[in-house]
Amino acid sequence: MTVTQATFDNPPLLLGPGPSPVSERIRAALARPTLGHLDPRFLDLLDDVGQRLRHVFGTENATTFPVSGTGSAGMEAAMVNLVESGDTVVVGVNGVFGTRLAEMGRRLGARVVTVEAPWGEAIPQAQLLEAVRANPGTRLLAVVHAETSTGVHQPLELLGESLRGGDTLLVVDAVTSLGGVPLQVDAWGIDVCYSGTQKCLGVPPGLAPITFSPRALERIRTRKTPSSSWYLDVSLIAGYLGSERRYHHTAPINLIYGLHEGLVELEEEGLGARFERHREVGERLQGELGARGFVPFTAEGVRLPQLTAVHLPEDREEGPLRRRLMAEHGIEVGGGLGPAAGKIWRIGLMGHGAQHTSVDRVLQGVDALLEASN
Ligand SMILES: *Cc1c(COP(=O)(O)O)cnc(C)c1O
Repeated sequence: MTVTQATFDNPPLLLGPGPSPVSERIRAALARPTLGHLDPRFLDLLDDVGQRLRHVFGTENATTFPVSGTGSAGMEAAMVNLVESGDTVVVGVNGVFGTRLAEMGRRLGARVVTVEAPWGEAIPQAQLLEAVRANPGTRLLAVVHAETSTGVHQPLELLGESLRGGDTLLVVDAVTSLGGVPLQVDAWGIDVCYSGTQKCLGVPPGLAPITFSPRALERIRTRKTPSSSWYLDVSLIAGYLGSERRYHHTAPINLIYGLHEGLVELEEEGLGARFERHREVGERLQGELGARGFVPFTAEGVRLPQLTAVHLPEDREEGPLRRRLMAEHGIEVGGGLGPAAGKIWRIGLMGHGAQHTSVDRVLQGVDALLEASN
């Protein structure tokens, strides 16, 4: 196959679990001239990205920056910096991303204790805290705020408070939550929080915003052995971010322009307005799909507005209809993962995709497909 301009004609409306649609402004920012990674003008822009990320994360943490890599690199950066072989780590598992956190912990030689809930349900905070109490010396508790594989909005506000004063750090996966639903790193006592650019921030995949609390940095400073990852070692990356500006690896310059523009757009809209926009369109989509016989996969009361996970009406096979939604209506949605594979659709209304016009397009497509198959 040859790649021509035609490859990019009629791009789909991206309403899957990521990547989300990218605005013209961000695309234009990505195309700006590439500056050197030690050019003071680029370093000013990078510092501004850090400042804007602090605002979005709700933190004053000095060590707040975009990891070079997608959301999974953010996850790996959190784990590989904090976890040492032999550590006890408690992980909440109720979907793909909790499963991945647990796997990373095991690969690092930790003793991983999982606290599980059925896919589609939240994990009671009391159970997570009980697991920490039952395992004295637990070094870390890791949870996923927005479980993109199931649409669950995991409550976390009580965890940090209960861990305060102890020796257990709180790690939160905010890949799908950042910019979509409220998140307060400092107020909720989160020690390390990572995200990704390609979900509710509306920037192409390739960067993972992350923030480390002073307590987390102290943990890293007093490690018995250096992190097994040289690339993601935050104590080395800090030499580039700080006043020394020491070369570690070349920053992905143009992607950082894109993130900067996305954060400027976010500030213009306002964080509160952005949450409200996601809530409004997500609730509308969920209501309209319910009226058409779709059945929520996610338990009531913990449904994310930006990620709707649903069974099709009368348990119709999801794959053929999902492929037709793409082929005939130009809309990309996701299928299920793990135990939900083949059973559900996952519809993302994230970042620039969180618009009433997106909901209109999905409903038009769904109505045409269901009508035709009746
Ligand atoms: C998408 C996602 C990730 C991984 O991000 P990638 O950009 O695909 O590497 C991690 N955690 C959650 C909750 C996600 O939704």
